[in-house]
Amino acid sequence: MAQPFHIWQDIYIVGSAEISHPYDCCVYLVDAGELVLIDAGAGKGFNRLVDNILALGFTSEKLSSIIVTHCHIDHIGALSQFRQEYGVKIIAHELDALAIESGKWVSAEFYGVDYQPCPVDIRLEKAEHNLRFGRHELKTLHIPGHTRGSIVVYIDIAGKRILFGQDIHGPCEVAW
Ligand SMILES: [Zn+2]
Repeated sequence: MAQPFHIWQDIYIVGSAEISHPYDCCVYLVDAGELVLIDAGAGKGFNRLVDNILALGFTSEKLSSIIVTHCHIDHIGALSQFRQEYGVKIIAHELDALAIESGKWVSAEFYGVDYQPCPVDIRLEKAEHNLRFGRHELKTLHIPGHTRGSIVVYIDIAGKRILFGQDIHGPCEVAW
């Protein structure tokens, strides 16, 4: 597999179909002092994601939070392992929280993945949120369409705005 790499300032990519597991979405890491992940991949790449984070020189003890852009398996499959093994807080929009917590409507069957439902620690309820982590602020926007609770995340850092759009296409055909 390919290696994780630096994107800009405190932003890295630690997961994707090429660098963690063929089923994984892109998984980004923001180094705010504490470490924040954007999405978590489908689950089968969990060990590789952790190895990639360590390979960039970070320690797993600094992992603090995962912001979930939406409730599909390629984005949420490793949530429960990250939460159980590293005490990571799971942050998601309230309209996708039920799917993440129940395992319904997450499309796991499309990937042949045995999804482990995961509690959502922080539910986003508003159209916009400003989330402070260490030295950085990440902003979320609710963009229902792909799923009801889809969000995008962006950060303004050193003169650039970086958007973590993930799956902004839609609507999705899952019936719920
Ligand atoms: Zn999706």
